[in-house]
Order: sequence, then structure tokens, then C-alpha cells
Amino acid sequence: MNILVINAGSSSLKYQLLNPETQEVLAKGLCERIGIDGKFTYKPAGKEAIKAADVAMPTHSEAIQTVLNALVDEKNGVIGSMKEIDAVGHRVVHGGEKFAQSVLITDEVMAAIEECNPLAPLHNPANIIGIKACQQLMPGTPMVAVFDTAFHQTMPPVAYTYALPYEYYTQDKVRRYGFHGTSHKYIAGRAAAMLGKPIEELKLISCHLGNGSSITAIDGGKSVDTSMGFTPLAGLPMGTRAGDIDAGIMEYLMNKYNMDIKEMLNVLNKQSGVQGISGVSSDFRDLEQATAEGNQRAALALRVFEYSVKKLIGAYAAAMGGVDAIIFTAGVGENGPETRANAVSGLEYMGVKIDPEKNNTRGKEVDVSADDAKVRVLVIPTNEELMIAMDTAAIVKG
Ligand code: AMP
Repeated sequence: MNILVINAGSSSLKYQLLNPETQEVLAKGLCERIGIDGKFTYKPAGKEAIKAADVAMPTHSEAIQTVLNALVDEKNGVIGSMKEIDAVGHRVVHGGEKFAQSVLITDEVMAAIEECNPLAPLHNPANIIGIKACQQLMPGTPMVAVFDTAFHQTMPPVAYTYALPYEYYTQDKVRRYGFHGTSHKYIAGRAAAMLGKPIEELKLISCHLGNGSSITAIDGGKSVDTSMGFTPLAGLPMGTRAGDIDAGIMEYLMNKYNMDIKEMLNVLNKQSGVQGISGVSSDFRDLEQATAEGNQRAALALRVFEYSVKKLIGAYAAAMGGVDAIIFTAGVGENGPETRANAVSGLEYMGVKIDPEKNNTRGKEVDVSADDAKVRVLVIPTNEELMIAMDTAAIVKG
């Protein structure tokens, strides 16, 4: 079974054609600068990536047509015809409270996704454009929507309710939603497989640490709390996002520097996080390098980040009444041994202990805890495309 996974942004589109049963990736790539001057990248399995500039893609429709043409191309294609694409799985950022799992796309589902647009005005409309373009080019091929928020819909009210006037929840849907759900769900499943235990019996804390970061408490396979909130600006400090701050800071700075809310949010989204603290970079590799060269602010940015991760691990262990495994994933989680070690240092009293030698690993599934540790610490590379393809295949098969 071949599933085409589409992740559509406003001017870009990532794609992957894969078989969820064998986990074989047949081809993958990226359309960029849609509506501008169209750049196309196509990487068939076992061959070099092919890159093209100035490809005519005034809209997402032409971008997806370009992808389909490449997939069936006589020389570099990976399938004989479009009939070999059994279904399309679309990443959709926000499913609000309407979607607690992935769903086959119908007219009603499209209308419900559109109703979630105000909750993710930058992302959902782009995701919808991607779905419509595929529907137009591939009539009759089943389409499935996989939501970033769906996995977190199991959170209890005590975890998702903000201490604001309650009408903002009932009338305006202001609550914690959480994001990165596809990633957290995938690594939770892999953790259960690695530990050889049913997921229903496990208390997991999954740390998705990348350019955007979030941590989730997963009890018995269900998300019971997560650090991102109504928007992906909440929780941990990130590459350029502030994470949780005192909301009163906004009034103080807006008054002092005569900023409007747009400018303030630009600061919080684009100029804060480890970039803001360090003044060096949002990239953890640059920060490690600058720290090694003696840059104190770069070091402080890393320490603030690690300390925030540690505090949430403690909070979520408290929320679940214990923890069996802490999982690290995404760019920093998979590739940053020092970040992992510092984030869990001092948690020995909880039974968390890393083996420094095992922890010296990057980008592989490894149990990095000491043999005698009560709580396992796992590194698990995330694979959101595979999770989307697996969900899509399961839904299409019924
Ligand atoms: P992501 O958003 O998951 O792609 O993660 C991007 C982040 O991962 C960037 O801050 C990178 O610096 C970081 N990252 C990637 N590789 C490494 C590495 N080898 N060591 C430390 N950080 C890394």
C-alpha cells in the first residue's frame, strides 16, 4: 500500500510517498516558493536528489501536479501510474475540539476543518488549500486528515482549562490544545515496543525538542498534559519563541517601546527563545560552539532551556504519579547528548540515571539509561510522515 503524505504550508509543500507496512520511503521532497518562482526538490529512493528552479507553480495545484509528474516519470519515477497511490494523508495543524483522531475527509469534515481556521490562521488555510488541490487532481483517491492537536484531545479539563473567565472557553474555545501530537504519538508507540510492554501499562514523558519544542505526559498511551497551549507559543523556550512568560510583561514592554500587539508577538515568536537570550543563534549547534568558545550568553540560553525541560519532567511525573520512561526526540532531543544529560541531571532521586557512554549517540533508537536506573531514558528519532501514513492506511482499510 502506497500513501502520499502531504504537509502543505502557505508557500511550501513537503511530500513523501511511502509504504507504511514495509516503512519503505519510495520518494520524498519539497516544493518551495509556490506563487513566487517555484523551486522543486525530488529525491527518489536510492538516487541523488533532483533540484529544479523556476518551476511554474503559481498555486498549490501546479505544485502537486509537479510532484505527481515526478512520481510517475519514466526515468526517475517510482510508480507506474497514479493508480499506485492508494490514499493521501494530509497533515492538518488544528482540529480544535472536533477531531480527537485522524479522519477520512468528506465535505462535512472539510467544513469542520475550515471552522478551526481562526484557531490556526497561519496554518489551517494552507493545509486546506493542499487538500483541495489533491482532491482536484486525484478524484476518487481517499484523503485522510491527520491533526497535530488530535492526540492531545484526551487531556482532562484540569489540564486544558486556563484560569480565565470561563466564557472564553465556552464561547471562544480558548483552552490548551497542544501540538506536535503526531510526533508524541509515534514516539510513545515506539517506546512501548522498545520496552516490550503494552502502552496501556506505561507512564511516559515525551520531550520533542527541536526548533519548536513541547513535552507531553502520556499515561496509558493517552496524552494527559502537554506544554504547548492555545497556540504553539507556550511552554518551553524554543529556537526563537519565548515559551511561557508573565503576560504582564507584554503591557510593560508595549508601553515602554510603543509597540502594538503585532510587534509584541513578533518579538515573542521570532526574536525570543534561545536566540533572544544568546543573541547568537536559534540553532543549538551554534550555541554549543559559542559556549565552547566562552560565550556566556550562549551558555545561559542552553542552561535556561535544559532547566525548563527538567522542570516539566518533574511536573509531569507529579501529574501522572510516576514515570516509567523519558523519551527524547526531534533535532535537539535526538542529536544533543549534552542537552539530554543536563536536562535529567539531578533527577537521580526519581530513579533517572543516564549512562554517559550510551548517551553518546545521535539519531538512533537507543536506551541511554544506566543499567540500574528505575526510569528508562530513551532516544527515539521521530517520524511524523510514517505516523501520518500509518493512520491513513488504517482509516482507508477501515
Ligand atoms: P528540528 O526542528 O527538529 O529540525 O530541530 C532543529 C534543531 O535541532 C536545531 O536547533 C539544530 O541545531 C538541532 N540539531 C540538529 N542536529 C544537532 C546536533 N548534531 N547537535 C545539536 N543540535 C542539533
